[in-house]
Parts: sequence; structure tokens; C-alpha cells
Amino acid sequence: MKKNNYGARQWAPNYANCCTGCSHNCIYCYAKAREVYRFKRLTEADWPLEQVRMHDVEKKRKKLSGRIMFPTTHDITPNNLDACMVVLGKLLEAGNEVLVVSKPHFDCVKRICDDFERYRDLYEIDVDVNRQYRIIFRFTIGACDDQILSFWEPGAPSYSERKASLKHVYQRGFQTSVSAEPMLDTANIDALISDLSPFVTDKIWLGKLNHLGPLKKGADPYLMQEIRRIERGQTDASIKAIYRRYSDNPIVEWKDSIQRVVGI
Ligand code: SF4
Repeated sequence: MKKNNYGARQWAPNYANCCTGCSHNCIYCYAKAREVYRFKRLTEADWPLEQVRMHDVEKKRKKLSGRIMFPTTHDITPNNLDACMVVLGKLLEAGNEVLVVSKPHFDCVKRICDDFERYRDLYEIDVDVNRQYRIIFRFTIGACDDQILSFWEPGAPSYSERKASLKHVYQRGFQTSVSAEPMLDTANIDALISDLSPFVTDKIWLGKLNHLGPLKKGADPYLMQEIRRIERGQTDASIKAIYRRYSDNPIVEWKDSIQRVVGI
């Protein structure tokens, strides 16, 4: 695997954020794990209360080399949408290519499309070779089953809202992609890929649910049962079987957790 070709670096060399905490409150959230359990800067009760960091909203944004992923340690929700719109606007106005990553709320996505339609189309950054889109959406959808989604991502939108958001962005002519990282229901990954593929212009990324070990500490019986189900679904044999089914499919891409298993 190439150096830096892992984690979020597979998607973008740069990132931007403007908020602390996230109302989606995903059980597996690495940003929550860092703030709450590692550095103890927030309590578990604080994490879902999104606090906009005004200094990050107000600061100037310049053109960076390479794509910027926004956000990475929170999401874009009705609570922080105004702040996110300011930051997104500054990033785009500075000439950056922005990868908007979200478990999407339909109304938030619609406003981004309305306000930033002028950044939708392909543009040339170098007349000879380099062509880019200014804005690409990547929606995290790790399962079709709302019971599974609402357990692991309790504050995030339902499957139907995420799919409707993807469809809306696609129909408005923006570039679209999906992250099924983490896959929360590998038994039904074929159904997810087939249901969402018609609205994807770029890629569907597949990845495992990492770092399950710490989640087991203090897990109640239902969480343990869910962790076991996830583990059974992402054994090396299961991952290799998924890889065999989609290795020739140009729309499917593999996160580092899968690349390691299948040796690419
Ligand atoms: S949406 Fe992202 S940032 Fe928010 S809790 Fe879930 S994993 Fe964390």
C-alpha cells in the first residue's frame, strides 16, 4: 500500500472543520473517542451538543494544494448548517476542490446545492491536462436497514433520507459518491450497491468497521451482539468474497482495511 494511502488520506490530503461534537453520535466515531475517552475534553453527554467554533468559521481560507475534505470530525446538520455554509463558501471561493462528506440531511443538502450550484461543473485548472470538479459529495451509507443504522448512528438520518439526498444531488447534476465505510451489514451489501449505484457518478467506497476492540469494553449485551454480527460479516473470508464479486466493477473502490485483506 502506498505511503499515506490509508484512512481519510485515500480521499483527500487536506481537511477542514468548524464544529466540536456531532448530534449523529455514532457509536464507532473516532472523533468522539478522541475527545471524550482519550483526551477527556468532553463528556459523553457533551458530544452530541454541537458547538460551532467561531474562530474556525471566521478565519480566512486559502487555496490549498489538493482536495479538501469537509467536514471530518463532525457532520453538517440543521444545527450547524449556517456555519458550515460560511466555511464551505470560503473554501470554494478560494478555488479549492471540496469533498463534502456527510450522513446527509435532505434540507442541508438541498441548501448546499442551491447556494453553490455555480461550483457544480467541471472546470479546467490547467488548459492542457488538469480538469477538476470544485465540489464532490460523498454520503456515508453503511447499511439499508434503519434498525441497524439507528443503533450504530442514533442521531443520523434514515436510509430513505440519505438515499433521497443522494438522488437529489445527482439529479441536480453534481458529482456524487457513497462511502459504505463502515459497512454495517455486509450480508446485504449487494442490495445497497445495487440500490444506490444509479445515483453515483464517482465511486462507492467499501471499508470495514475498525477498532472494535475498545467498543467491547463495557459493552451491554445488545452492543456485544451487534459487534459479533459485524465481526462475522467482516472476516477475511467474507471480505474476500465481497472483493471477488466487485473487483471488476469500476464503480467500487476499496478502503485500506480491505486492501490489506485482499493484498492490493
Ligand atoms: S457523523 Fe461522523 S463525526 Fe458525527 S458522530 Fe458519526 S462518525 Fe462522528
